[in-house]
Amino acid sequence: MGLVTYVNGAFVPKEEAKISVYDHGYLYGDGIFEGIRAYNGRVFRLDRHLDRLYDSAQYLMLEIPMSKDDMAAAIVETVRRCGLRDAYIRPVISRGVGDLGLDPRKCKTPTVVIIVDTIQLYPKEAYERGLRVVTAAIRKVRPDALSVQAKTLNYINNILARIEANRAGVDEALMLHSDGYVCECSADNIFLVRGGEVWTPPAYLGILLGVTRETVMELARHQGLPMLERVFTLHDVYTADECFLTGTGAEVGPVVEVDGRRIASGRPGPITQRLITAFREQVVREGTPIYTEEVAERRA
Ligand code: PMP
Repeated sequence: MGLVTYVNGAFVPKEEAKISVYDHGYLYGDGIFEGIRAYNGRVFRLDRHLDRLYDSAQYLMLEIPMSKDDMAAAIVETVRRCGLRDAYIRPVISRGVGDLGLDPRKCKTPTVVIIVDTIQLYPKEAYERGLRVVTAAIRKVRPDALSVQAKTLNYINNILARIEANRAGVDEALMLHSDGYVCECSADNIFLVRGGEVWTPPAYLGILLGVTRETVMELARHQGLPMLERVFTLHDVYTADECFLTGTGAEVGPVVEVDGRRIASGRPGPITQRLITAFREQVVREGTPIYTEEVAERRA
């Protein structure tokens, strides 16, 4: 079965999924997106992703031309038509076709696309040996300049950081607030373990409130670990007992080196490993069923 993409109400083969070059998503990055995963025939935390998608739309004053329920149904149907049980799902809503000026009023109808594919951000071994990270020289955009809680099609700030990681030959780039506090990575949230506590930066620093971040915070609390949202510096990262990152694409990935400093033993730490196991168990357990037999099972 080939991959199917949803484009403005139609389900088309991936190769035929096309949008206009006059779309302001293409011309100006005027639009929003989500990154969602399905595991074992179920879409993980679809509601949380849809809440964030519609909040991103509200921020951009972009009216998504369908209800959340219809969007959820379109997402599930696109995955079903792809025949996948494990998938990466990318809804993209852009301002739509306009003229060559940036005025969004010229764009009459938003473009709605749902891409379904698979993704493997890092090789399997990376989760056993751990990831290497560098701090990007470029700072995170300040939240008073652009909300980073909205997942907009403007990812240039993150892409520039990612280029720095590529040039350094490592897996990810860590981004700092303009005041130097640790924010997040180019496409993931960051966590530390220090003295048995688990730390992650707070929303007000200007970070994306990751769905995986939220899941891992729940799992940490469930395991009785003190889970703190707090401001910290690179010094805290370099001297941490453990470090890991979280994201829909990356899932939970241990970090063993930051800016050339080995983190503790230089091996994925025990709390990180426990959380990775708990996360993997959680994602196959919960979620919106894609296939009818699972819908029936859930109702029973
Ligand atoms: N931060 C940024 C900048 C991201 O792009 C992502 C990926 N969506 C994350 C964090 C992780 O968020 P989530 O767990 O919802 O995928």
